[in-house]
Order: sequence, then structure tokens, then C-alpha cells
Amino acid sequence: MKGYAMLGIGMTGWITKNVPECGPLDAIVKPIALSPCTSDIHTVWEGAIGERTDMILGHEAVGEVVETGGMVKDFKAGDKVIVPAITPDWGSLEAQAGFSMHSGGMLAGWKFSNFKDGVFAEYFHVNEADANLARLPEGVKAEDAVMLCDMVPTGFHGVELADVQYGDTVCVIGIGPVGLMAVAGASLRGASHLLAVGSRKNCIQAAKEYGATDIINYREGDIVKQIMEKTNGKGVDKVVIAGGDVDTFAQAVAILKPGGRIGNVNYLGDGAYVKIPRVEWGVGMGHKTIAGGLMPGGRLRMEKLASLLETGRLDTSRLLTHHFQGFEHLEEALLLMKDKPADLIKPVVLI
Ligand code: NDP
Ligand code: ZN
Repeated sequence: MKGYAMLGIGMTGWITKNVPECGPLDAIVKPIALSPCTSDIHTVWEGAIGERTDMILGHEAVGEVVETGGMVKDFKAGDKVIVPAITPDWGSLEAQAGFSMHSGGMLAGWKFSNFKDGVFAEYFHVNEADANLARLPEGVKAEDAVMLCDMVPTGFHGVELADVQYGDTVCVIGIGPVGLMAVAGASLRGASHLLAVGSRKNCIQAAKEYGATDIINYREGDIVKQIMEKTNGKGVDKVVIAGGDVDTFAQAVAILKPGGRIGNVNYLGDGAYVKIPRVEWGVGMGHKTIAGGLMPGGRLRMEKLASLLETGRLDTSRLLTHHFQGFEHLEEALLLMKDKPADLIKPVVLI
């Protein structure tokens, strides 16, 4: 079979591999809709997960089951499924502790294009199919559903980590596709004032459509100053970080009210430390909590998220700015994600 792979750090290309084998609990799936992720860019061009050779990329796929193992009960060949980016081992001790995304070690629930071949292939393997596949609801388009694999659960997890409550004033830092889903999630959770930090025009427009009440452009001056002005010097109850770098935490702590929480889902690629500003952190006593996490996987959660699309409570189609038809366009779609042209939010490739 053909797959689009990381050949080594900084190098990608088409390769040929054997179709993966299906274990008794597993499934083999062929993709219907695929999307590249900013994380694929970190993986290849920033060496985020270290050296990988001829590893097929991709972790966002909706597909059709072609084979199931003898112990799989709920899925069969022909079923249309959403495949979460994170596919944990549900019997692991980490999963029993409530952190399935770290099953087998920190971040190790992220297997696709990390520890095993990803989904940018004619066929791919899913471990523990009954627990890790989710049904694609009737009437939900595969291209819209592919945003459920990673963008929606990651953005929403930032909102959960920040523990957004009704009426909270919330700031979402970064409004790429992940941050936009954090804006949508905070809105669903009842945020009142919802400040969104970004600069690209199309993302700003989408943030407004997903519920942002105020836009802060980080390229037009210090965001702490801008946000303190907007909130009459009070700051915000909750912050979700979905963009920026290690220095963003200092800004997030500074804009947070005492008792506030920061939920980070941004990948930190540079810098040895995340610095917490002493005075703004209440000289150690400000009750300002910082939480960071990888998105949770699992069928139950994914089917609940899919029901938001089914009922029209969430519309992911606004994220899809670039549509491609045909497997051969994967490379083009991935490179778009690397170059991030002004009008890009997310590309989708229909097979
Ligand atoms: P994008 O690159 O599309 O978006 C990043 C956003 O951050 C943009 O809005 C950008 O603004 C903004 N930004 C950049 N620099 C700053 C800054 N200094 N201050 C404030 N805002 C800034 O990324 P994605 O939305 O695709 O992904 C976001 C992050 O989430 C990535 O690091 C990705 O790897 C990570 N991720 C994490 C997952 C998890 O499970 N935790 C899963 C998936 C992704 P501008 O408008 O100028 O572009
Ligand atoms: Zn991703």
C-alpha cells in the first residue's frame, strides 16, 4: 500500500509498505477523509518527537472499516467510523487512573505518526477497536467529522482544563483551528465575555462566529496591557492557551484573576523552562492554577462530540478553508499547514 511519510527530520515523501496486520481486538480502516495537523509539522520539521524514519504521517481520519479482529464485538467491515487521534490501551494502569492519553507512558496514548504508522495511508491499524473507534452518525459529513479527531477534542479539552463556568470571562490565546474550537467550547460552556487572541483575518472572523466578544491582536502590542484595558483592570476568570510559546504563560498568569485557571493544550517546542512571574502569581499565594494536557481519546467521548455535529450544536465546516479530492493531494495539504497562508484554517482531503 501507499502512504505519505516522514522519511527523516525535515524530509517527507511517498512510500510503499505492507498493509498492517489486524490483531484480535483491532481493526483495519481505509480513510474517507483526512486532515493534516500542526503537530505533523512539529513532528517533521521541528523534530518534536525525535528522529523517525519512514513513518507514515497523520492522525486525523474518518474512514471505513475493512477488517476486524475475532474479539471485536461492535464494529464490522463496511462501518463508517471516526478515529480519534489518541488511541489508548484501556487496560493500562494510567487509563485506570483516569489518564488514558498517557497509557504506556507520558503522552504515549498518541500512537499514530508517533509510535506507529499514521493514517495517511491506503489502510491503517486501530488498536482496541471497540474502545477506540466511534460511529459516524448518519447525516454528518465525513469532512466535518474529521475535525472531531483532534481539533474539537483538543480545543474543548483546553476549556475543560481551564474549568470554564457559566458567566466566566474567558481569554483564548491562539485562534488557529484548535483555539477556534476552544472558543466554541467556552461559548457552549457559558462564557460571558470571550476574548480571543490572534492575528490572521480569517481566523479572527471565524472566532467572532464561534462566539468571541473581543479580539486582541498580539502583533499590535502587549496582550496583557490590551486585555487589562478591556476588562477595566480586573483580568479574566479563565485562560485557554492554544498558541504562542513558553513566554505566553507569563502573560496568562498576569491576566488571570486570583482563583483563576489556565488550561494549556499548546505544544511547547522551544525553551527549557516555562517561567511563572512571581508577583503576578500572587507571590506564590494567588490561587492561580496552571493545567496542561493532551486530548482524551475513547469511543464514548468521541460519540458524544459527534452528537454535537448531529444536532447542529457545533458546526466544524467553518474550519475547512481548503478542500482537496484524492489521496495524491495529501502532500499539498500538509505543506499548506506548514506555510500557513493568511486564508488557511484547515485543509481536508477527501479520498
Ligand atoms: P495554529 O498555528 O494554526 O494556531 C496558532 C495560533 O496562535 C494562531 O492564532 C496564532 O496567531 C497564535 N499565536 C502565535 N504566536 C502567538 C503569540 N506569541 N501570542 C499569541 N498568539 C499567538 O495552530 P493549531 O490551532 O493547529 O494548533 C495549536 C497548538 O495545539 C499547536 O501547538 C499544536 O501542536 C497543538 N496541538 C495540541 C494537541 C493536544 O492534544 N494538546 C493536539 C493538537 C494540536 P496568527 O493568527 O498570527 O497565526
Ligand atoms: Zn494533531
